[in-house]
Amino acid sequence: MNKFLPFSFPEIGQEEINEVVDSLKSGWITTGPKTKQFEQDFANYLGGDVQAIAVNSATAGLHLALEAIGVGPGDEVIVPTYTFTATAEVVRYLGADPVFIDSCEDTLNINPEAFRKAITNKTKAVVPVHFAGLSCDMDAIIKIARENNIKVIEDAAHSFPTTYNGKYIGTLDSDATVFSFYANKTMTTAEGGMLVSKNTDLIDRAKVMRLHGISRDAFDRYQSKTPAWFYEVIEPGFKYNMPDISAAIGIHQLKKIDLFQTKREAMAEIYFNELQGLPLILPAKAPNNSQHAWHLFTIRLDETVKISRDDFIVEMSKRDIGCSVHFIPLHRHPIWKEQYNLKPESFPVAEKAFNSIVSIPLYTAMTDEDQFRVINAIKEILQ
Ligand SMILES: *Cc1c(COP(=O)(O)O)cnc(C)c1O
Repeated sequence: MNKFLPFSFPEIGQEEINEVVDSLKSGWITTGPKTKQFEQDFANYLGGDVQAIAVNSATAGLHLALEAIGVGPGDEVIVPTYTFTATAEVVRYLGADPVFIDSCEDTLNINPEAFRKAITNKTKAVVPVHFAGLSCDMDAIIKIARENNIKVIEDAAHSFPTTYNGKYIGTLDSDATVFSFYANKTMTTAEGGMLVSKNTDLIDRAKVMRLHGISRDAFDRYQSKTPAWFYEVIEPGFKYNMPDISAAIGIHQLKKIDLFQTKREAMAEIYFNELQGLPLILPAKAPNNSQHAWHLFTIRLDETVKISRDDFIVEMSKRDIGCSVHFIPLHRHPIWKEQYNLKPESFPVAEKAFNSIVSIPLYTAMTDEDQFRVINAIKEILQ
């Protein structure tokens, strides 16, 4: 009965399987009609005049977005330390330097005042990350950015479908937003991402750079009347296109995203109700008129708890429950720590959070019984 409950598990239905099989049988398995449809469906879902281009990862999308706004050697890009390494590594791809800042205590999202203080005359962009699926304080961030002529690229890997003041993340007044469809995210294409922007120039640039810097993509060439063999390379681009096999999954995941969201919200409510009163700090909820996507449900062990965070995770795994830690802050990883001489004292909020935080399972493929196993295990360990 106590089968291992993984930390995450994708919910793939027969619709996704049929669509993938259709792709495989059609003879067109790479970027083609299904990718085009997925891009259109995704842009329609968000509304607000956005254009969407599908890529093979959010990391690729972030790279393309920063490239399209002209980030290059000598530039600085402000990123949170409390994120996944992809947020910072893409800055290095372009020969620019990430500048790491601390987060707000309650949300673990980028601290707007820390952002303001980190600005120099080299600052080209800021990459806010909507941690766990809760939006950053985007009014403050966009205002500071505009006052200082800084671009805003949102790392929305956790935040589909998150809203901020009634608007979807992806439709705000930032320069571009990038979503992830990695296997454990709120919807998946196995590997994949979506770059979204209202700026047509940015989208056009990213489209060219997504596929080797070629001025027409293979599907356009296949469809168009001019000879299919002819193309021109106008830049040394990348290979970041999404294959139709992935888009086939995405088309149906997107159709289910509102159902997934309703289920995750209900599960989060159960955790709030059942875990209240324990020596835990429960995650921040979304303010009125905003929606939390609940990609992650994190708990922080109170200072009164005797057991360490590491031992807590061991105890959970003894009870056959997978947990994770989001995040090991970037200033703790050798590459960032050594290259930029980062000191833990500079990031007190991230340090404190990291030492006590645990991500517990929350995904739509879980049953009520699974969730109560998690709740009972936590109660047993903490009592
Ligand atoms: C998952 C994740 C990414 C990378 O997404 P991929 O699609 O795997 O490239 C980037 N940023 C954050 C915050 C993430 O959690």
